[in-house]
Amino acid sequence: MATGDDLKLMAIVRRILLEEGSEVTPDDLDIDGSSLGPIGAWIAQPHAALGGSTLMEAYRAGASEDIIRSAVRSALESGTAPRHLPLAMSAQAQQLCCLCGAAPASTRDHVPPRGFFKGSTAGLQLITVPACQLCNNGASVDDEEMRIYLAMEAGKPTVEAAAMWDQGALKSLKRRQALQGQIGRTAAEVKDPATGEERLAFMIPADVVHRVMSRIARGLHFHHLGQPLPASVPAKVDKAENGTDLQAGDLALLNHGAVGGTAFRYAWGVDQDGVSGLWVLQFHAGPTYYVQTGMNAQGQGGIS
Ligand SMILES: [Zn+2]
Repeated sequence: MATGDDLKLMAIVRRILLEEGSEVTPDDLDIDGSSLGPIGAWIAQPHAALGGSTLMEAYRAGASEDIIRSAVRSALESGTAPRHLPLAMSAQAQQLCCLCGAAPASTRDHVPPRGFFKGSTAGLQLITVPACQLCNNGASVDDEEMRIYLAMEAGKPTVEAAAMWDQGALKSLKRRQALQGQIGRTAAEVKDPATGEERLAFMIPADVVHRVMSRIARGLHFHHLGQPLPASVPAKVDKAENGTDLQAGDLALLNHGAVGGTAFRYAWGVDQDGVSGLWVLQFHAGPTYYVQTGMNAQGQGGIS
């Protein structure tokens, strides 16, 4: 049964959640007499930020709104605040995040990241997969950085690539001075072995490439197989030659997919064990990466 204190605290918590950018829906406040709904249940649970007390106990003991706010914030950061509850309580929500395989999915993530299609997303059939809030938000810095590298490396061979560069990546790069310095420090003229032409090469941080590409492969794995690739299954990322022909040689035997014409093309195959696979990811007809998973990811080399 709802008491006056419960309702007052729930209203405060709901307001704080909204102010902190959580997506609280009316369902979160469903009070039907026997149940206080997700927020009501949540304020009666122990909170780590309150030393194991519940928000209700803290409120009744006279905790200020600042204290309540900081407890709500830390719950939002750890992904345990009520923006996850409505989904977690529905049948759908038993579904786990297909990227970390650990937390309940509460949102959908674009695979590859939406920003890789800047300027060309209208009318595109983008692939989305269930993800937790942490995986979804946590990757945006990596994604933005990777987009800059992809744009620099792809150049502007296609309309889509030019749009990504002009409408997205260039602005990002101008905003990020540390990254400009890093690119400048590692840039060097190299001779392209294929054409003999001089071109500018620069270092792309292996850890960023690894995180972005393995995440895309995990997302695609779920998209095509309907099952998350367990987090314990390793992924190894290797750079392939720019513009690798996905329809030639052994790659022709794989399955193929594309999003946005030349913006993103990929080839893939997964072994009988359901986890060991090869994902070849190509962006704007240029930069190409191999992501090998499971048994295929064991062995030497690669960006891991
Ligand atoms: Zn996740």
